[in-house]
Amino acid sequence: MMLSDFTFDEFVLFAKKMGLPAFRGEQFFDAVYSGKTLEDVSNLPKALKDIIEPYYPKYKITQKLVSKDGTQKFIVEFYDGNIVECVLMKYKYGFTACLSTQVGCRMGCKFCASSLNGLARNLSAGEILGQAILINKEIGGSRKERKLTNIVLMGSGEPLDNYDNVLKFIKLISSSRGFNISERNISLSTCGLVDKIEKLKEENLNITLSISLHATTDEKRAEIMPIANRYKIQGIIKACKDYYEVTGRKIYFEYTLIKGVNDRDEDFQNLARLLKGFLCHVNVIILNEVKERNLQGTSRLFAENFVEKLKKQGISATIRRTMGEDIEGACGQLRNKILKNNKKFNLKK
Ligand code: SAH
Repeated sequence: MMLSDFTFDEFVLFAKKMGLPAFRGEQFFDAVYSGKTLEDVSNLPKALKDIIEPYYPKYKITQKLVSKDGTQKFIVEFYDGNIVECVLMKYKYGFTACLSTQVGCRMGCKFCASSLNGLARNLSAGEILGQAILINKEIGGSRKERKLTNIVLMGSGEPLDNYDNVLKFIKLISSSRGFNISERNISLSTCGLVDKIEKLKEENLNITLSISLHATTDEKRAEIMPIANRYKIQGIIKACKDYYEVTGRKIYFEYTLIKGVNDRDEDFQNLARLLKGFLCHVNVIILNEVKERNLQGTSRLFAENFVEKLKKQGISATIRRTMGEDIEGACGQLRNKILKNNKKFNLKK
């Protein structure tokens, strides 16, 4: 465990175990949340830095790309040389960070870059938090003056395939002692691991659940998402309804339009039928092209039409604005390609 995996109370306990007064624990906490390297932390004596060095997080930003729309993509490297990508988007209401939950992904969706190399490993809660800490620092924030306002768990990885660490991350980042980001400002996107949705429901969190649906029949879904062989659409919808019953949180469905695959008239009709009468919102995404994947996005006009037709059926829907496409920072474009040249990379299963 690294210090970034600790709750505030655990920091204080850690200090105590080291024979130090509680206020040192608080200083360590501030140091970690500042996103500074231990070297750059100025209010700790060298002797104390030596004590905490083995526990101090080693993650760092190794590269930053800026899109012409202002979106920024960061390459974050961890202690073992594994890297993930995360994205910062500026909106009118604040800054949203799109964080990765795994190095790579094992879900194997046919349109997504994140699973091109399979799953390398899970990220710990502290490593997911670390991305937020580093991004907050990049935009001039600290713990006390946090600039980051929203979190979306929509980077590489399947959050519910790394359930315990993701849940712990949500607790850490929403803790009033930490960044104090309200659960309402956190979205978790999943390809639909039904048993984990049922489990998450029991936590009764105020986070927003997004479901990557992308198809309206199990056969069609299985063509593009292998997970559909395990979990059926009806089961997903039922789990979503249960989730809504318990938490009162509106469910978001993501529907990425792929030309000739899931954008036909019958797809829209099935979708309208599936969701009718359920308080939810559909985020229509036009496929962002991934060069290794031989799929094309639907035209903008077609997508607008799709949304209009859904609305006519009484289903709330919008097209999600694509951001950061020129730096491969848009939905489904996050990957770990830099690892191909990284000798330290080790594909642990
Ligand atoms: N594994 C989670 C988190 C990823 S979120 C999930 O499946 O939901 C990223 C979102 O972008 C998901 O809805 C995903 O299906 C979608 N996506 C993946 N590849 C895409 C692409 N090439 N173009 C547009 N959206 C894509």
